[in-house]
Amino acid sequence: MTDAGISKTTPPLSEQLQAFVGREIGAPDVARDPVNEAMIRQWCEALGDANPAYTEVDAAKASVHAGLVAPPTMLQAWILPGVEMARPMAEQRQDLQKQLHLLLDAAGYAAVVATDCEQEYHRYLKPGDRVSATTVIQSISAEKATALGIGFFIDTRTTFRDQAGEEVGWMRFRVLKFKPHQQPAPVQTGAATPAKPTRPRPPLGHDNGWWWEAVARGELPIQRCKDCGVLRHPPRPMCGKCQSTRWDSITASGKGTVYSYVVVHHPQFPGFDYPVVAAVIDLAEGTRLVSNIVGVDPAAVHIGMPVQLSIEAVDDGLKLPLFRPASV
Ligand code: ZN
Repeated sequence: MTDAGISKTTPPLSEQLQAFVGREIGAPDVARDPVNEAMIRQWCEALGDANPAYTEVDAAKASVHAGLVAPPTMLQAWILPGVEMARPMAEQRQDLQKQLHLLLDAAGYAAVVATDCEQEYHRYLKPGDRVSATTVIQSISAEKATALGIGFFIDTRTTFRDQAGEEVGWMRFRVLKFKPHQQPAPVQTGAATPAKPTRPRPPLGHDNGWWWEAVARGELPIQRCKDCGVLRHPPRPMCGKCQSTRWDSITASGKGTVYSYVVVHHPQFPGFDYPVVAAVIDLAEGTRLVSNIVGVDPAAVHIGMPVQLSIEAVDDGLKLPLFRPASV
């Protein structure tokens, strides 16, 4: 068989992608360091894991492990390449997975987000174990439309082995490689002044729509458990005290005090007038609310300051429960 005389064309992207499926990405990744106490301790400190089986020799000896073990969730940490991962992908050691990502970059699918991960552990790793891992590109989806943009879901499956070649665990990792939504180009309107940007809108749903409707009417409601009477904010379906899903609401008096606050200068978002005093308000009824304090010199705001609710339109179509200094 010969290709002579047959003109070659680049196959469509979907076909190029499917050529990656089922293949190992390259030689096994071998841990640069054996499983060791120092890395285990640093991991546990960073994650706040106080299990003595990981860090306290005597307690670990007395445990079912009869000695220190590594947290199972550290599995992937042993084979990560470290600082190399911070370099642009084209400058990293190449393997098939990176070639796949570079191919998608070149086709405009330049963004990536990890969507989910599944792991299974067969045994605990102990200091001295040496981990290696092989990764297979398990599947690549058809092009999908997602909230982030159109793209492809890529599943990889990594098998982890110890120094004897025994499988110690596996991981399935899924990423979405996608084309980010393009921001629409600003409309050129000649000499006309562009409209003032509006503030971001709250996401409205079944659990909080009623609260925003009340605010739009000029009231500040507080959700109340119909069974135990406990008040809660922000609105949510279940009482944290008695787990009842029955609720009604009361109307706040509007009296409050500043529990904590910060004066925001940067970063600045369109639609806000800076500086913004963002505060946690202790309502007289006992719940707290994050809001802005307006009509005051930011330097005069202090913890414990009495404030009064003022529901105000911040732009066309959005009313917010703001607070002003309470008149003495
Ligand atoms: Zn309750």
